Amino acid sequence: MKKVLITSRSFGKTSPKPFAILEEAGIEYTLMGTDFDEEAFKKAIPEYDALVIGAHKFYPEDMAKCPNLKLIAKHGAGLDNIFLEEAKELGICVTNVPAMNANAVADLAFAHMLNISRGVSFTNNQVHTGAWKSFIGKDVYQKTLGLVGFGAIAKNVARRAKGFSMKVLAYDPFVTEVPEEFAEYVTLADLDTVTKQSDIVSIHVPLLDSTKNLFDEARIMMMQPESYLINTSRGGIINEEDLYKCMSAGHLGGCAIDVVEVEPMQQDNPLLTLDNFVVTPHIGMYSLEAISAVSIVCAENVAKVLAGEEPNYKIV
Ligand code: NAD
Repeated sequence: MKKVLITSRSFGKTSPKPFAILEEAGIEYTLMGTDFDEEAFKKAIPEYDALVIGAHKFYPEDMAKCPNLKLIAKHGAGLDNIFLEEAKELGICVTNVPAMNANAVADLAFAHMLNISRGVSFTNNQVHTGAWKSFIGKDVYQKTLGLVGFGAIAKNVARRAKGFSMKVLAYDPFVTEVPEEFAEYVTLADLDTVTKQSDIVSIHVPLLDSTKNLFDEARIMMMQPESYLINTSRGGIINEEDLYKCMSAGHLGGCAIDVVEVEPMQQDNPLLTLDNFVVTPHIGMYSLEAISAVSIVCAENVAKVLAGEEPNYKIV
């Protein structure tokens, strides 16, 4: 019997269908997502034929100890925790599930924008501690939204921005023309223009060598002093030390992020002392609809690859 190890915590959390797909294909599964332990994972994985992985890293030296492993199925889109070249060299197929979580992440990016601009969580915390104080925020309506990256998630953020009559500036070195659908309200611009001219900047790029520390002190200081910075993509794209330095000196109206460089976020991270800093614990794709859809595609890919068939969204 073929075996799959599932280390993604959210796999199958919202629907029994992904498990039914594995069972129907005669595949035995083991869940190792809750209280993930790296040492236990390293010991277990050589016995398995496939891995469904979340955000943790699977190092090349450990991959090399897995003679049976035919597939690493990313439960999500971002591939920054997977060593693609090494997997390819070892003949291990890698798949991901792009775009299916793009509505969920876009919703969260928009939730962060509305929250930070109107002080929703800030005033909520105050009321919970007995203070009934007013807070004068800012409209999102008709503001300029800067999108860094113009892929699946950013496009869905732009679609939502249209409903708020926002002007959208987008920077993406791999997009040379605005698709017809967005022509009326999205303008492509270089990164400096997007950074300088936006009331809200929202980041939607993968974590790559070229995007690591993209928002460092120099770029954050380029942003308008009262603007908002949103990051639902990956930790490490904003340099957190630089962000703290700029924000503690009074630059930026606020910053809201779903991802940090070290996850879980360390309690002594100085950003947590700032009132206008909001963080969610990497929940971008955690909507019922997105998790069900992503888990189903992952399960189908495991069944296909272990049956010798071509999977969907094969990366290598
Ligand atoms: P996507 O591949 O559709 O879009 C990414 C875009 O970034 C592409 O259009 C690409 O051309 C562009 N890009 C690449 N390098 C760039 C650079 N240097 N500068 C500007 N743009 C650049 O991916 P997506 O589905 O939109 O996801 C974007 C990122 O969001 C993922 O890579 C992932 O890291 C992150 N994500 C986070 C969550 C979450 O739970 N918070 C969930 C899903 C995805």
